[in-house]
Amino acid sequence: MILIGNGTVITQDDSRPLIGSGCVVVKDGLITDLGTTRDMKEKYPRGAFYNAAGRVIMPGLINAHGHIYSAFARGMTLKDSKVSKNFTQILENLWWRVDRALDLPEIEYSAYVTYIEGIKNGVTTVYDHHASAGHVPGSLKTIADAARRLGVRTSLCYEVSDRDGIEIADQGIRENADFIAYAKAQNSDMIKGLFGLHASFTLSDKTLEKCTAAANGAGFHVHVAEGIDDLYDSLKKYGRRVAERLHDAKILGPQTLAIHCIHINAREMDILKQTDTMVVHNPESNMGNAVGCAAVLQMMEKGILMGLGTDGYTTDMLESYKVANILHKHNMGDPSVAWGETARMLLRNNAQICARHFEKPLGILKQGAYADIIVVDYDPPTPLTEENINSHILFGMTGRSVVSTMINGVFVMKDRVLQTVDEAEVTAKARETAAEFWKRV
Ligand SMILES: [Zn+2]
Repeated sequence: MILIGNGTVITQDDSRPLIGSGCVVVKDGLITDLGTTRDMKEKYPRGAFYNAAGRVIMPGLINAHGHIYSAFARGMTLKDSKVSKNFTQILENLWWRVDRALDLPEIEYSAYVTYIEGIKNGVTTVYDHHASAGHVPGSLKTIADAARRLGVRTSLCYEVSDRDGIEIADQGIRENADFIAYAKAQNSDMIKGLFGLHASFTLSDKTLEKCTAAANGAGFHVHVAEGIDDLYDSLKKYGRRVAERLHDAKILGPQTLAIHCIHINAREMDILKQTDTMVVHNPESNMGNAVGCAAVLQMMEKGILMGLGTDGYTTDMLESYKVANILHKHNMGDPSVAWGETARMLLRNNAQICARHFEKPLGILKQGAYADIIVVDYDPPTPLTEENINSHILFGMTGRSVVSTMINGVFVMKDRVLQTVDEAEVTAKARETAAEFWKRV
């Protein structure tokens, strides 16, 4: 038993949002009790005590969409690279070249460095969308092994695409099916599998059919109408818009994550709502790729479950929260909007997304929830009350404020030191692997 106490506890549980000089009691991977430090110490005198020393104790953050495969692109310059003037060119000139060059060692170290950065930013659950046309079979298992060693909770999938030919598409289908079966056999809430699809414009009807057959009821994780070309392609080839096409192909549903949903209309939003499909917003990536601004406020108004991701742009969910908050104000030309919606996406809806794939509650500190807990070095310079918690998180904290991260009852980082691997050793090896990788891309 571990008591994490002597801190301000932010629970994200409406029945008790804030506990001053609070303490969370952890046993066998779960939160078993919480209250004031004095009460908990009295009740559990033999529990090991972690002293949060007046810092904030809150639920671990959830990233609902990321790309581990993009890790080694940081700082990379391609000698023969062309200037990309639109999103399709960014994919062709950068990302598809990266994923074609990836082999298992690069995948392994991309996973390590991405998960480690996440841990350091307080991210305890990661939904990843993987691609490595250079080496498909076993790629998800390689990522899962890194997650297991680090102690991170993760949902993995392989993005099937026709862009590298039928054989690679078929390998992707097999990789998803194999991994979903593997994850099920683990019977653990640390590793889950979804069926990954790249995007409508790189998937033929024939491939989509094969995917739904192979998915065997599993949810999908797919980019939807991210760039305008995805919409044009669907209209031109199939006479339907992207969400309509995916709906007809039986891809949408309550287990499915539809990523971005930028170039969709009201009719498609209704389809997403009717099918109870989850949508994930990635503000920084969308701005960086200049693909447009998703109608997040409209989708939330319609009751669509909207979560927040990073799309590989960063691993810092608090950064993603900050940018989402200002993007929609800027886009609407209205400084009064998006306060509640952006907080809800990160702090509540990502937990609801997890609730559709994981057995016990995540993203909340309450009895019976998984013990995914972070300690944040934040001493508020203004009063912190039940009414202004989100404002303190938004304006006062960044990922780097996180000092300790616990996942499933285990400290994976304590006082900024990784507990499960030697961080410097892993990072040095990653740098070496990346340098060799850059020569091949
Ligand atoms: Zn993505």
